[in-house]
Amino acid sequence: MKYSALKGAQDIYPPDVYIWQTIENAAKEVFSAYGFQEIRAPIIEYTDIFIRSIGETTDIVEKEMYTFSDKAGRSITLRPEGTAPVVRSYVENHLYNLPSPQKFFYSGAMFRYERPQAGRYRQFFQIGAEAFGISEPKIDAEILSMLKLFFERLNIKDLKFEVNSIGCEQCRPAHKNAIRDFFSSKIETLCPDCKRRLDINPLRILDCKVDTCKKLKQGAPRVTDFLCDACRDHFNELLSLLELLKVPHVINPEMVRGLDYYTRTTFEITCKKLGAQNAVAAGGRYDRLVEDFGGPPTPAIGFAMGMERIKALIKSSAKQDIPAPQVFIATIGVPAEKEALLIADRLREKGTWVEVGYAGNSLKSQMRRADRLSAGYVFIIGDDEIKSGKVKWKKLSDSTEGEISFQAVDDFFANEPKETKKKSEQITKKKRKLPSEKHDRYHRWKY
Ligand code: ATP
Ligand code: MG
Repeated sequence: MKYSALKGAQDIYPPDVYIWQTIENAAKEVFSAYGFQEIRAPIIEYTDIFIRSIGETTDIVEKEMYTFSDKAGRSITLRPEGTAPVVRSYVENHLYNLPSPQKFFYSGAMFRYERPQAGRYRQFFQIGAEAFGISEPKIDAEILSMLKLFFERLNIKDLKFEVNSIGCEQCRPAHKNAIRDFFSSKIETLCPDCKRRLDINPLRILDCKVDTCKKLKQGAPRVTDFLCDACRDHFNELLSLLELLKVPHVINPEMVRGLDYYTRTTFEITCKKLGAQNAVAAGGRYDRLVEDFGGPPTPAIGFAMGMERIKALIKSSAKQDIPAPQVFIATIGVPAEKEALLIADRLREKGTWVEVGYAGNSLKSQMRRADRLSAGYVFIIGDDEIKSGKVKWKKLSDSTEGEISFQAVDDFFANEPKETKKKSEQITKKKRKLPSEKHDRYHRWKY
């Protein structure tokens, strides 16, 4: 019997996992500099939380949620996105009583039942952030600037920042009516979903992915033409702050996001290198959502980034640091193996990454492993070393070598000039081949 992972779910393991860590670390570093603190909400929530916030007529709720009944018959959903759970947590835990703004970031798995393809998975990872309590566009601009810094930190280029404003409950009704009028005459050509949406939520037609609907929306009334004065001022102010902060951006008046909770500012960051699934990050304001969830009126804004897509961009462009052991202890004979274990333990206590050879491996194969792992040093212990109480060491990068007593070994790395612990190299799926001269240098050793 052979098992496989679920369709659309991926395993992440070394060396790729280091790219994931690089992304997570960059996010943590950059977001912390902007005052965002980590929040960890559950992966499962009551289904209603998503239906009420994302919207009944959205693709996510209509088609993509992993929803099931638990043993007590409650409807549970694996989170398809991170904002609704964070808002639920913010309200449930009365975080609005803390000084405003409260700023959070999260990272974790999301689940959507979509057709798996490049850049689209059923379990995928997002890093996101949410800021509560500020309505001024200053925070919108700070968030976009934070994203700019984050992508710069990862050396990801060729990104397009698209921004729009989709107005508030004041400007929505007029736009909604205009959209309904526009599509009414085309109702026969709309897909079945959009036929339903025309009445309840005509704005969603603008986000439909069906080809015929996509064509129909050309010339549809633009939300920007319906903005009330307050929303227009808000948007203009955001644009001037983006200029000030030198965040390159384009206005895309046709961008409507796939979730219903957005108000005013919306944005998407895309990269054409990604092909069809080109959105790397997306977000916007949701000034009504906290209230809808039973909290006090609290303006808010957030975004989420797709980690798989960020990873794809890093993999296609940059070299990656892969950590390597500081020392590999190769041994010959049982007494040496025991001594090696003791030395390894003492060094590990000090935080040194130590690898040891295992039984049945010849010295040559232990050496090969040290090289494969790109260890900084090899220590060699055999019967002679046990007798003399000294370890032989060799630095693999320049082949310098020497001896050190078993006791002094504990401070070997403290006294050494700080070795770079990481090896920079391109991650490839291929096994690294050792050049033959590397083997030779061990043959020259006395063992
Ligand atoms: P898309 O246009 O790709 O369907 P979306 O509008 O559904 O994206 P959001 O809900 O805004 O996406 O999620 C934010 C980000 O999460 C996206 O920009 C994308 O990078 C990523 N993302 C969304 N769905 C998936 C998925 N199924 N697999 C991988 N990444 C995804
Ligand atoms: Mg989608």
